[in-house]
Amino acid sequence: MDLKKLANALIPGDGLLPPEKYEELFPARNLEKGAEVTRLAPSPTGFIHLGNLYSALADERCAHTTGGVFYLRIEDTDEKRKVDGAVESVIRSLKYFGIKFDEGAEIDSPLNKYGPYYQRRRADIYHAYAKKLIEEGYAYPCFCTAEELDAIRETQTENKQTTGYYGAYAKCRNLSEEQIYKNLADKIPFVIRLKSQGSIENKFTFRDSIKGDITVTENDQDVVILKSDGIPTYHFAHAVDDHLMRTTLVIRGEEWLSSLPVHLELHKVLGFKPPRYAHTSSLMKMDGGNKRKLSKRKDPELSLDYYREAGYYPEAVIKYLMTVLNSNFEEWELKNPGADYREFKFRIDKMGKSGALFDLDKLNDVSKTEISKISEYDCYDFLNGWVNEFGTAADKEHFKDKEYIISILRLIMGVGGKKRRKDIARAEQGIRLMDYFFDDTFTPDRNYRFDKDTVNCVLDGFAAAYDPVDDNQTWFNKLKAVAASAGFAAETSEYKKNPEAFKGSVSDAAEILRIAVTGSANSPDLCTIMGILGGQRSVARLANAKL
Ligand code: GLU
Repeated sequence: MDLKKLANALIPGDGLLPPEKYEELFPARNLEKGAEVTRLAPSPTGFIHLGNLYSALADERCAHTTGGVFYLRIEDTDEKRKVDGAVESVIRSLKYFGIKFDEGAEIDSPLNKYGPYYQRRRADIYHAYAKKLIEEGYAYPCFCTAEELDAIRETQTENKQTTGYYGAYAKCRNLSEEQIYKNLADKIPFVIRLKSQGSIENKFTFRDSIKGDITVTENDQDVVILKSDGIPTYHFAHAVDDHLMRTTLVIRGEEWLSSLPVHLELHKVLGFKPPRYAHTSSLMKMDGGNKRKLSKRKDPELSLDYYREAGYYPEAVIKYLMTVLNSNFEEWELKNPGADYREFKFRIDKMGKSGALFDLDKLNDVSKTEISKISEYDCYDFLNGWVNEFGTAADKEHFKDKEYIISILRLIMGVGGKKRRKDIARAEQGIRLMDYFFDDTFTPDRNYRFDKDTVNCVLDGFAAAYDPVDDNQTWFNKLKAVAASAGFAAETSEYKKNPEAFKGSVSDAAEILRIAVTGSANSPDLCTIMGILGGQRSVARLANAKL
């Protein structure tokens, strides 16, 4: 059979460049030895999940710790699953977590020399390589209908055989030249299939960069490489793209491991040196004592939007993922407190070979620790970012007064103090702690433990004595005097000696003030709070809080 003629009949397009031309157009990258070229290759479905971030972080680390390149390729061959704005959403979501691409779809970069980065825009390239395979006898047209394929599957299932299009079941493998041209003349739709050279009798060992040596069976399936509309399948497109984009390391989910023999065969017949493959284990969670895969349906925390909306500190999510990716990261962090996580020597071969456990409680702890380490200015930026997207109208208004917020943050985070506050894991928790600093969100719970006269005596007395310029000590001395005049012991020791003689100690009197000013019996340093609120507002609160 004249295979060149057949290739032209199946894939006309005279304007197609020969594959050698593409090899020249996309030459080997000029990078240092050992530099990794990695990619994230999502389908633009609009759902960007933790697994994507997990892979992206591994990709990004591998590329950037070796002086390589990390690029974004959009695998949009399935038009039905495409969602508008999905590509921007991938870029935005990953950027939020500090992960940036060096090149690729929608990335403004002088490095963009290996595109187009959308598979839909690469039809000519796939056709050129598919044509080459037909010419060399590695691919052929298949005219089988869906019904015929169903019938084949049924027979195979009945015979307890592997299902698929292979060996004797691959009917169209042996169509005569005459039959093929007749079908084409009759305009019968066809797909292009790989003519597999493999046999299930043969096994080979392959080295996965994460899982190590894996022995697999050769592929013998004549998989579809071009669908009837000329669109490539994932198998074919990713092989061509990873080759022409000069990818050195493919990091992808372990669900692809079973297709690996197909992929390696495709690289072989295409004459490519395959990239190295690293199959990441699935993210798991504990559920009622059992470990199971995170599921889109059951676990909101699978979606990346969840972390943005819930207001986790982005670097905390990344650091937590680093501990899941490389179990020695935690130890490194302990030895290098305050160091940027990017200084850690990430190693793909240190990734877990099976089920990586993702634990929200642990993430909460990491987030609390990270937030407790940042400056009040970084904290403002972080909270303000969240407020702008998810805050209430009141939050948005409050955050316009940056200086005021910073002074509150300094206090509630314990900046400069002996102990930093360590119980804020998410933006909203921090923001709600500030509500009493604003009259419109101040909702006091006036739960005094003393009678009306005592409460009013403390509040009136302190309002009269209070001067916003007082330092901490003067403020406290005034409180002691007011407390004493209302029947409290000015010194705790006095009270302890003779509790019967007093209504309580000075700290009980302070509680009355605290409830009046902050609305609750627990708060950070009250003198500082009143200083932040200002004299007028503080005194007004004392007056309003009387019984
Ligand atoms: N488009 C594939 C997916 O979203 C990419 C797999 C790969 O990284 O090669 O699962």
